[in-house]
Amino acid sequence: MKYIYLLIFIYIVGCTESPSKKYDFVISNVHLIDGTGNALKSNVNVYIKDGRIALMDKTEVSKKETIIDGTDKYLMPGLFDCHAHTGTFQIDFPKFIHFGVTSIFVPGGSTCTNEYYKEMREIGKQDSIPAPRVFHTSQHFIMEGSHPVRTYASSNWEDGKTVFYLNDTLQIESLVKEVSQYDIQGIKLTIEDGPMPPPIPRMPQEFINKVVKEAEKNNTKVFVHISDNIELRMALEAGINNFIHFTGVNLDFQNDREMIEDIYQSDVSWVTTLMIDKSFIYPLHPEWVSQTEIINIYSAEERFSNLTSESEIEKAKKYLSFFETDYGLKDPTLESIMSFQVEDIKTLFENGVNMVLGTDAGNTYNFHGHSLHEEMQLLELGGMKPMDIIKMGTYNAAKMMDTLDELGTIEQGKIADMVLLDKNPLESIKNTLSINTVFKNGIIQQRIE
Ligand SMILES: [Zn+2]
Repeated sequence: MKYIYLLIFIYIVGCTESPSKKYDFVISNVHLIDGTGNALKSNVNVYIKDGRIALMDKTEVSKKETIIDGTDKYLMPGLFDCHAHTGTFQIDFPKFIHFGVTSIFVPGGSTCTNEYYKEMREIGKQDSIPAPRVFHTSQHFIMEGSHPVRTYASSNWEDGKTVFYLNDTLQIESLVKEVSQYDIQGIKLTIEDGPMPPPIPRMPQEFINKVVKEAEKNNTKVFVHISDNIELRMALEAGINNFIHFTGVNLDFQNDREMIEDIYQSDVSWVTTLMIDKSFIYPLHPEWVSQTEIINIYSAEERFSNLTSESEIEKAKKYLSFFETDYGLKDPTLESIMSFQVEDIKTLFENGVNMVLGTDAGNTYNFHGHSLHEEMQLLELGGMKPMDIIKMGTYNAAKMMDTLDELGTIEQGKIADMVLLDKNPLESIKNTLSINTVFKNGIIQQRIE
């Protein structure tokens, strides 16, 4: 009986409300950071209808609308992590959403069969189970015995399923043709050698050139994994302009004019992944895993996996010492290894290169969702402005994913993937963690309690 009363009640309420209510809801009187890099606008009403941003204005909101009061709050587009791996997406996806990451880009991995990719894409398309939208590359194209099969031992690596070994240049034509039929953003090509020792040669230049040539024929992009300046040059020579790591590259803007000009002329998109450095030195800073937002979301196993073991601490010290031997930084610290890299990233950004946020989440101490906020903090630590950092995780990321017509900014007509914050991220990028509400497809997402 109660159920019938409830139905009648809903019917009456529905009847009295629906004729005059034009929108699903409106976030009223909010401070808007729209992701384009334009200045913050205040007292804005953002109207949502059928999952999209239907209208933005500053006039008084009709009392008939469902209002989410945005007074003293900050609205920005949903964030992208443009370099993330997940072996168990069912566990990892709610964490991305919890931290306002509404889109991810997965550049391969040992679990990434076509079936696994499809499952991820499908869960990313719905909005009732918390999950980000999923963009991804093909499986890695590599030389047998090289990274990542060599470095990340797993029984899941299987030629033709989770990785493609390039045996000769003749095989490349049909392989690229086949892979181009997949639902991918492009081909993942790994040039990196070894890493050494023992020495494993880099992917030969003729293989890289052939993959790019065939990809062009099939109208497919190439996303490249490089780990130093030599590999950067090889990729540029082949005409590749999507780079999925920054780590390992050290640009000399004075003496490398030719290469720098090449980058500026090549419509490059480049993912930052500074979190690779930070995650490697986590064992030297066990206090980092004690932050409340980490404790509350990640299992003890994820937070402490060998964190305090001697060998992990030794590995971390050795990693830091590379910056002393290879880059001449005296007594390297997180701050110093960031400032010399962010200087390059900032210069590229200021010269119009499409710099994009990405973390390499899924590696140890590189936490799904949270690490994107750490990535932003590292860029701020190295001297970048919050507004530019936000643009790299929204507009620029959507541009790299070829989805700028639908995502990446808060503009009329676009899909309503948005994050509402309690504090101003332009004052300190740490405030991107003051998340009040996450919207995907204009629907409030369940965050982890
Ligand atoms: Zn990766």
